[in-house]
Amino acid sequence: MARVTLEKVRKIYDGQRPHVAVHGVDLEIADGEFVVLVGPSGCGKSTTLRMIAGLESISDGRLSIGDRVVNQVPAKERDIAMVFQNYALYPHMTVFENMAFALKMRRLPKGEIEKRVKEAAQILGLQGVLDRTPRQLSGGQRQRVAVGRAIVRKPQVFLFDEPLSNLDAKLRVQMRREISRLHQQLGATMVYVTHDQVEAMTLGDRIVVLNEGKVQQIDTPLALYDRPKNKFVAGFIGSPAMNFIDGNLLNDDGLRFRSKSGGVDVPLSGNTARALAGRAGTPLILGVRPEDVRVWSVGEDKAVDARARIDLVEPMGNEIFLHGSADADELTARVAPQTLPAVGEDVAFLFDRAKLHFFDPESQERIG
Ligand code: ADP
Ligand code: MG
Repeated sequence: MARVTLEKVRKIYDGQRPHVAVHGVDLEIADGEFVVLVGPSGCGKSTTLRMIAGLESISDGRLSIGDRVVNQVPAKERDIAMVFQNYALYPHMTVFENMAFALKMRRLPKGEIEKRVKEAAQILGLQGVLDRTPRQLSGGQRQRVAVGRAIVRKPQVFLFDEPLSNLDAKLRVQMRREISRLHQQLGATMVYVTHDQVEAMTLGDRIVVLNEGKVQQIDTPLALYDRPKNKFVAGFIGSPAMNFIDGNLLNDDGLRFRSKSGGVDVPLSGNTARALAGRAGTPLILGVRPEDVRVWSVGEDKAVDARARIDLVEPMGNEIFLHGSADADELTARVAPQTLPAVGEDVAFLFDRAKLHFFDPESQERIG
């Protein structure tokens, strides 16, 4: 196993108009770590992974695997194994032959090949299908064979590019667990690309959030969730997404945030007020996650940050998403299933003061 280090790694695709797909990524992946690259489609995830794999040249910067700089080292000499979204299995070969193929090419002794394939098959629960061809397998089994092919090579680093995207939702959850278990079992360095923030949160020791070829934040899942560095990360991680409200910080009978439309009015005190004190009189974006919004019936004698009319009720079974508007401000609350107001009903929203996020409208960076 090995660590992987990216120093200012850049990718420029030459074409009629040169296109910077990856703008100088700095990332140190520890030996045995599971790192997930996540971001919207086109943000440069696959390009970054393919540069690590050696399938794409590096335009600038330095890439090391272990202590070796590998910028100029061809893919097959990097000792990595990659699992793709489309599996890329050989259709005319059996499961056994698919898994054994790379080892045969390397002229490993027959006994060793057999031992490794059997081991991998056991880890992945494929013992019963080693004689079948890919056509005779379910989607989940094909995916396992693709992973098995990587395992038998005992690589320094595993790379995964959206390996679960072709599976249905239930199978995806199951395979996610299997990949987690595999990581624990093998203790291998793994780099995993996905556009799915739930996959990122559940799999990664650390997550790299990318947008438009730039690293937005590198952190543990919970640190990303609790302290997103900017509005992009705050909005990308979490579902339903964080509420964002455009407004101003006013010094009006104490410090308060008021939305542009006036529909949201949040008195601030304590640490929050101290952290924001220097910005009184300036525009601000307030962020609050749906689970940090309490909902009361109007008329209950409680503090209120916004009076809203319910536009949409989404009962999920174990919880309910309530979407409401307070003048021009749209807000989503995530509440226990007991509370089921009707569409059109007026309710009062109250935000958990300890869970407010503030962003600078200019830089979009987190404040405080
Ligand atoms: P992701 O995997 O995050 O969806 P990619 O890394 O595939 O994104 O692509 C990043 C950007 O680089 C996109 O704008 C894409 O159109 C562009 N791109 C990818 N591959 C090539 C290529 N071979 N030639 C030119 N541009 C490319
Ligand atoms: Mg991709």
